[in-house]
Amino acid sequence: PLLFSLTALAAAAQCHAQLSDDAVRARVDALMARMTLEEKAGQITQHFVFQDVPNEEARAAKEVAAARGGSVLLLKTAADINRFQKMALQTRLGIPLLVGFDVIHGFHTVMPVPLALAASWDPSVAQEAQAVAAREARAVGIHWTFAPNVDIGRDARWGRTVEGAGEDPTLGSAMAVAQVKGFQGAFIGAPGHVIAGPKHFAGYGASLGGRDYDEVDLSDSQLWNVYLKPFKAAVDAGAGNIMSAYMGLNGVPASGNHWLLTEVLRKSWGFKGFVVTDAGAAFDLTTHGYTRDRAEAGKQALMAGVDMEMTKPFDSQVFGHLPDLVAKGEVPVARLDEAVRRVLEAKVRMGVFEKPLVDEAEAAKVLADPAHRDVARRAAERSFVLLRNDKQLLPLKGSSLKSVAVIGPLADAARDTAGPWIFAQNDAETVTVLAGLKAKLGAKVKLSYSPGVSMPKRANKSIFPEPLPVTVDDGKEIARAVQLAKQSDVAVLVLGEAQIMSGENASRSSFDLPGRQQELLAAVMATGKPVVALLMSARPLDLKGVQPQALMQIWYPGTQGGAAVANVLTGEVSPGGKLPFTWPRNIGQVPLNYAQLQSHFTHAITERYWNEPNTPLYPFGFGLSYSSFAIENLALSQPVLKAGETLKLSATLRNTGARKADEVVQLYVRQKAGSAARPVRELKAFSRVTLDAGASQTVQFELPASELQYWSAAVRRFVLETGDFDVFIGNDATAKLQGKFQLQADAIARP
Ligand code: BGC
Repeated sequence: PLLFSLTALAAAAQCHAQLSDDAVRARVDALMARMTLEEKAGQITQHFVFQDVPNEEARAAKEVAAARGGSVLLLKTAADINRFQKMALQTRLGIPLLVGFDVIHGFHTVMPVPLALAASWDPSVAQEAQAVAAREARAVGIHWTFAPNVDIGRDARWGRTVEGAGEDPTLGSAMAVAQVKGFQGAFIGAPGHVIAGPKHFAGYGASLGGRDYDEVDLSDSQLWNVYLKPFKAAVDAGAGNIMSAYMGLNGVPASGNHWLLTEVLRKSWGFKGFVVTDAGAAFDLTTHGYTRDRAEAGKQALMAGVDMEMTKPFDSQVFGHLPDLVAKGEVPVARLDEAVRRVLEAKVRMGVFEKPLVDEAEAAKVLADPAHRDVARRAAERSFVLLRNDKQLLPLKGSSLKSVAVIGPLADAARDTAGPWIFAQNDAETVTVLAGLKAKLGAKVKLSYSPGVSMPKRANKSIFPEPLPVTVDDGKEIARAVQLAKQSDVAVLVLGEAQIMSGENASRSSFDLPGRQQELLAAVMATGKPVVALLMSARPLDLKGVQPQALMQIWYPGTQGGAAVANVLTGEVSPGGKLPFTWPRNIGQVPLNYAQLQSHFTHAITERYWNEPNTPLYPFGFGLSYSSFAIENLALSQPVLKAGETLKLSATLRNTGARKADEVVQLYVRQKAGSAARPVRELKAFSRVTLDAGASQTVQFELPASELQYWSAAVRRFVLETGDFDVFIGNDATAKLQGKFQLQADAIARP
């Protein structure tokens, strides 16, 4: 019903239908015929409008007024955007700006972080959340988001895993496609939608040591079979933009990388949109030691396949050198024209010329739409992952529950509840866990609260706050928290990482609970009271073997996070999310991913650390619910699959528990032998199903033979090879229900 009402709203706002390619081309031709080389270079330059840094807004305004900027980013109010548009309209050709923004998980209404959306294992949730985000952003005049982040994250030390969909290319591709559709709608220029810009092309998630921006050294088979997959899916879904990454990929900076941007993205995948660099990444070709100066950096970026330069604050432009380079014959004007054309096409399709200004009152109305908060709450509810629930402590038993102690530094932390990459929210509107429980439990249950220990706060208002050392804490509040726990029927602890510890430039070399939270946990556990621990983070945290009776990962759940938590703890909703990554026992195991290649002794007793096994604490795809399920009767449509055919698989899912709940049925495949080493298993399909107590349903999957294609390191190309396959169906990566089939395709001869 919610989806329906939003679609109806979008339809009501319809003012712009899809334009034909010919109409777009004609508009762009007419404009380009009148443009000077300088205006062309300006059109493909995007400026940061960093309002928190003195003089930066004035600098950007000057560039826009002089037609040296075709796009801006970071403006976030309708009034500011209109003001900049008016400056652009007063230039010689009056070409309005394409306005970009990091709409990562909501704009004003904050959705759960993208990693949490992935944990729902429900692409429709991600699509709906990003459609709401798009609607709010578009209302204030934003045309384009730098999202989704489709970087595979296989090392949670890297802070930007929060923005992606976790470790798996199949889950990652599904979430990439869903988000592109949510942001863009049915076509580029659809009313109430924005252009999607999947990023960071490509390999950024594999930075060495999980350190942000560090070099990436990836084998071709990892690149093709894992890291490029979600990008390809996003391109196939029609994404209008791609952002090139900051870092060097196997020795060549991604933003000057002709192979990536032209050979792969354009020629092989047929990408039709425009490529923007990450902030200052063209300028940084020089920092990388890849070009000698700004002029050469501009030339290299453009010739590699970049269509628009995103400058960094503090003047890092390099495309300003293009007119000169064209005049000297060093850069063909045809390549400059191609880039300008792609950017102008985006403007024409987005209706920027027809409607450069937005109605500020209308924008305010859209941001306040209560339907958006419902979407945020439901997305959060579906994202939580229940990791332990001893003796069915959850859901809390309404009738016997008289008192709850809510404890922890994140229990009433609105800004942290919203998570990183949020700039246009109102913290006063965010429902914290404490507020959510208060509203839900009402006056009949006595609620007490103590933060227990402190957490670092934002150091300043800058977009990238300084990471502070954890605030020194005298531990006195721990005693009060213990007192409250003793006086209550149950303690709900909200622990984890402050939001500034995830996101850009926010890597950690530890999975420990920051500050004195571990001590707090131990002290509250020692009371002997039942403990529900909620973890707010985008990383697997290491609780040092301490096992609260109930443990649930709630990520950074957004504006309605606390309301969602209350609905789940009281049993109105049963949790059904699943881990989008493998949860290691400790950080020394990282990277630890389920889809490792079959090796000499994979998972055998001989393959272990001196001090512990190689197995994870919780496998990829794991998550409990308030009910229990059985998955039985695996059936395959045929024993032999030929190229071009589709295998149909089915299994019966039965709710064996006493209440309505969700289960995510997961299908994994193993190619038993190949021309190159193959993963021990790979996720190929999944389906989240809601079932009443006692009910069963046949869950069906389709596996086209083409899904079994992979890039073989032995012959250095994609192959679809004859071989035997095992399939496994279950509810996490250790799925046991097994079947087999044979693929008849090519015989691959190794050299
Ligand atoms: C980030 C991008 C982001 C851009 C604009 C960069 O530092 O890497 O992901 O879109 O800033 O804010």
